[in-house]
Amino acid sequence: MNENFPMSRGHIRPRSLSRSIFTAVLAFTLLAVLATAVALVTVAYFSEEKRSEDLLVERARSCAETLDSRAPDSRIEVLEGQFSGPERFTLVDSTGQVIFDTAVRDGELDNHHERPEMIAAGHSGEGVLVRHSDTLNKDILYVAERLSDGCFVRVSEERLSLLAFLGSMALPMGVVLVCAVLLVIVLSRLLTSRIMRPLNDLDVNAPLSGEVYEEMRPLLVRVNEQQEQLRQQNEELKRAEGLRREFSANVSHEMKTPLQVISGSAEMIAGGLVDPDDMQDFGNRIYLESQRLRALINDVLTLSRLDESSFDGAERVSVNMLELVRRCCERLAPLAQAHDVGVTCDGICLHAMGNEPLLEQAVSNLVENAIRYSEDGGAVDVHVEASGVADDPQVVVRVHDEGIGIPDDDREKVFERFYRTEKSRSKETGGTGLGLAIVKHAALYHGGDVAVESVLGKGSTFVLRLPAQA
Ligand code: ADP
Repeated sequence: MNENFPMSRGHIRPRSLSRSIFTAVLAFTLLAVLATAVALVTVAYFSEEKRSEDLLVERARSCAETLDSRAPDSRIEVLEGQFSGPERFTLVDSTGQVIFDTAVRDGELDNHHERPEMIAAGHSGEGVLVRHSDTLNKDILYVAERLSDGCFVRVSEERLSLLAFLGSMALPMGVVLVCAVLLVIVLSRLLTSRIMRPLNDLDVNAPLSGEVYEEMRPLLVRVNEQQEQLRQQNEELKRAEGLRREFSANVSHEMKTPLQVISGSAEMIAGGLVDPDDMQDFGNRIYLESQRLRALINDVLTLSRLDESSFDGAERVSVNMLELVRRCCERLAPLAQAHDVGVTCDGICLHAMGNEPLLEQAVSNLVENAIRYSEDGGAVDVHVEASGVADDPQVVVRVHDEGIGIPDDDREKVFERFYRTEKSRSKETGGTGLGLAIVKHAALYHGGDVAVESVLGKGSTFVLRLPAQA
């Protein structure tokens, strides 16, 4: 079995294209050669017959002319003397009685009066005809001429049948045919390899690069497109794999610090190395780092679910965004108080269809960031408003702070996983580095988007845009 063409499950033997082309070309060419040869030989046969008929008529006429110019009793002598040859000469009197025949000298011949060529010559002076001779048992061409005194001279010659003619041509025809067959085989091979060359030279990785048959172009264009798609998918897979590795490395790295703090503190407590007065401090440290770990793990899990589209099956409900924003602000009030930041929530009551916990987490992350990255005494304003056009209404949640702001170069990058601006103090304020990545993916999941406007040192405005419920 050819490795390049493994047999299908039905064990159908793959057909060889080159062999099919070769066989077809060879068969058709041979057939054409054979048909041409037969046609040529047939034409040659009939033209030869016509030529020999003309010659015989010519001979008969000249014989009749000669005999007419001589005395009737010298005719046999003239025939014997001047017209002996391969042809048969018959001298017949006006009653049909044979006077002389160059082929039958001793025997007596039938009366020739009723012979068709004689009848024709009796009417028109000349009778030309091919018929089977009972006397000689052969096909014979007869030319009868009427003489001036009513007698007839008939010249006849054996006629070669087409089959006999073909037989006589068998040897030269055989040689020519063998040569033709050899030539046809060689030409068929050359032709086949010429036809096959573009197919054999086809580079499946770049199908349109070489010489291409016009008829195959649509197929090759499709193959090329699929190759391109595969290449792109491959690159995307590699990129995704790279991102996954980077993400895993980042997660491990982010987990390391709290784990070290927790295990170190616990080890010291267990070893009795902590002063009882510091015990509460150590307990607090362990608690804080555990909280950080928990937050990190929760964020990683949420992102993984968004990546794997696990939310796709979740039920979407009508979410009152103003209520949701207010809930978030209330929940984050202690944090705002701790940072001495005033938070105000307002806007209009608008609904979006979506996954409520996910939307709540997204808004929560934005408000929490606004508080954490505000200076003490700062203000955060969360506003719900309508946007979009009549057939594409949108709910916009605008979270504005007067905090540290984001440098221009970092503005787009803050939505990447674990990206933090230099002066953000993210870790000190309990940030996981995943909050905005979750906001971005949650927005995309709902068919919306998120953007940021910011002036360094003056504050930022995050704009979360979602399709509104119609
Ligand atoms: P983090 O947990 O570090 O806050 P996020 O993904 O929520 O992670 O935010 C990414 C980074 O974007 C933050 O580390 C911070 O540098 C910057 N950032 C986010 N929100 C704000 C904001 N309101 N003001 C200034 N910087 C912000």
